[in-house]
Amino acid sequence: MPESFVHTGFSSRVVFGAGTLDQVAVEVELLEISRALIIATGSARDSADVVQLGLGDRFAGRIDEVRQHVPIERAEAARSKAEEIKADGIVAIGGGSAIGLAKAIALTSGLPIVAVPTTYAGSEMTPVWGQTADGSKTTGTDLAVLPRTVVYDPVLSRGLPLAVTAASVANALAHCVEATWTVKADPITEVTAVEGARALRDGLLAVIEDLHDLDARGNLLYGASLAGSALASAGTGLHHKLCHLLGGTYGLPHAETHAAVLPHATALKAVPRARARLEAALQTDDLATGLYDLFTTAGVPTSLHALGLTEDQLKEAIHTFAESNPTLIDEPALTALLTRAWAGERPA
Ligand code: NAD
Repeated sequence: MPESFVHTGFSSRVVFGAGTLDQVAVEVELLEISRALIIATGSARDSADVVQLGLGDRFAGRIDEVRQHVPIERAEAARSKAEEIKADGIVAIGGGSAIGLAKAIALTSGLPIVAVPTTYAGSEMTPVWGQTADGSKTTGTDLAVLPRTVVYDPVLSRGLPLAVTAASVANALAHCVEATWTVKADPITEVTAVEGARALRDGLLAVIEDLHDLDARGNLLYGASLAGSALASAGTGLHHKLCHLLGGTYGLPHAETHAAVLPHATALKAVPRARARLEAALQTDDLATGLYDLFTTAGVPTSLHALGLTEDQLKEAIHTFAESNPTLIDEPALTALLTRAWAGERPA
């Protein structure tokens, strides 16, 4: 029997399967959306065209420009556009950046979101929003931003290049690992995260062999969904807080930053019971080196230095994080963690 626990689950409708892009219009209708605003990542334009056509009279407008970490100016422009076209719902097609912009609109308007993810960021399963202003990223949790319906069509991610795929999988694996060690982690988030990690590893190794392997793409979307849902319930901890600081303040790419930091955060952090289960899922004897080796095999950059963080910025980041999170980690341990991640060394 597990020890006593509290679990908060979040409900959204999930439609999963190859070819489900064609069902987006029906899902929009089920939500009684009559004026849909489409937000699409540039690389998902073709899919957005298909959805736009399928929506017919329910299509009201479209935004094709999105940026990572939701710059405040983009959020404000998107809110104005939604008001101007009298949108009563949003269809977001793309990675975490497209879904993040849809969430920015939903945060202030409550408009329902239908999310069609094409990466493995997992934002579609969480009530977490983020926004960046003056070089600083703010995140929060609000049920208004949780997509009502998520349509997972593995066909859409077949064109995702290996470098983007691998980094995005690293981001999803970070959700799985962190969901086992936060203060809110519980047996349900743990089992979800472990199964997510298994599917993500299997899917990643298969797409390295064949980028267009539809089964592998399905495994990756399934794993990303579980990862996002585990994170939604367990919340974030040391690892995500570090990545948000690095991404928000120094403009480092989100998913790649996770790949560089996760093995080192994992080496440091005790994850008593879950560690063995995650190691079994990832088929490794050591979680930290297993993650590092998986990312290296997939060709993800594993150093913050390679992502553009200067040595001065590294020192500044250590100082800022240690000052604002005194109970999470002490400064010598943080210095060791980030210095290794900066250099891209294999965890000891
Ligand atoms: P992204 O949305 O910027 O996409 C990464 C890259 O993939 C982009 O260049 C995009 O054009 C390309 N791409 C996307 N779909 C493609 C496709 N089908 N084919 C070819 N290329 C494609 O980045 P991301 O890593 O998906 O998401 C990162 C953002 O999401 C960050 O802002 C992060 O903070 C946020 N995020 C939020 C949560 C949350 O719960 N709120 C969770 C994870 C990430």
